[in-house]
Amino acid sequence: TTGLSKENIEAAINDAYNANKDSKEGKNADYIKELANVDPNIYGIALVTADGTVYTKGDLDSRVSIQSISKVFTLARVIEEHGAKYVMDKIGVDATGLRFNSIVAIELQKGKEINPLVNPGAIAAVSLVNGADSAAKWKNILQTHDEFAGADLQLNGPVYISEAGDNLRNQAIAHLLLAYGRMYFDPVQSTDVYTKQCAINVNARDLGIMAATLANGGVNPITKKKVVSPETTAFTLSVMATAGLYDDSGQWLYAVGLPAKSGVGGGIIAVCPGKFGIAVISPPLNAAGNSVKAQKTIYDIVKKLNVNPYLVQ
Ligand code: GLU
Repeated sequence: TTGLSKENIEAAINDAYNANKDSKEGKNADYIKELANVDPNIYGIALVTADGTVYTKGDLDSRVSIQSISKVFTLARVIEEHGAKYVMDKIGVDATGLRFNSIVAIELQKGKEINPLVNPGAIAAVSLVNGADSAAKWKNILQTHDEFAGADLQLNGPVYISEAGDNLRNQAIAHLLLAYGRMYFDPVQSTDVYTKQCAINVNARDLGIMAATLANGGVNPITKKKVVSPETTAFTLSVMATAGLYDDSGQWLYAVGLPAKSGVGGGIIAVCPGKFGIAVISPPLNAAGNSVKAQKTIYDIVKKLNVNPYLVQ
């Protein structure tokens, strides 16, 4: 039995949940102090099909900060507003091959070819989003996330405060980009809005619907609202495929074959274009900064459903 029938999807989710639920591997991020306090046992799965059927398992109540997964949606907004070429020219799309918060990556490239799914390119993306001041930019970004999720998402206050008081490295990144003429709005305010977007609170269902909107060409399959165009969605997915899982992006694509994005809050989304989006939340991370259980769960489900697009049988 193959194919994306209800039975197969439910069986794949249940099997993956049971196989991975007792894993204790990995460790919460703690360089943002508040993230160390998040319950490491949170484990939720949501698979949402491109036609809007929602399958869930485990913890759907707990919310974690979206962290780097937000970079996907802000990138999509910037591409939608300014076009794909503009993002190529102003930010770049090649993977840096260095850690997500690397300053060396900026220095080596003199601010060019920084990737929108790691910190320097993501802060640059925030600086490019439409909005005359930081309040307008934040409103635009939050609304974008709300539309992808089909929900009124809220800021995780403690995570925002914790990171805002401790983000000297990201502030340095923004200033170094400015020195290279690659920061397009006030660096302090861009970093602040970036820190806010990383602190948007989501549960597995919210993230699953956000991923499904990408699987559905930019139309939210639950609310039916067009959030971004199919072209914008395709460009966004391409960047996810090459740079979505930090330094393990190549290993991920090699194993799973689907564009994905992780965040240090413990969430991962993956997208099977035209078919479904999937999200898993589990806070403990491996050395590269990716949730151990979320990676393994998505791997198991994709394998079982036989949806690696590179695999033609
Ligand atoms: N807010 C986090 C940072 O800037 C996001 C990191 C991530 O999830 O990769 O360090």
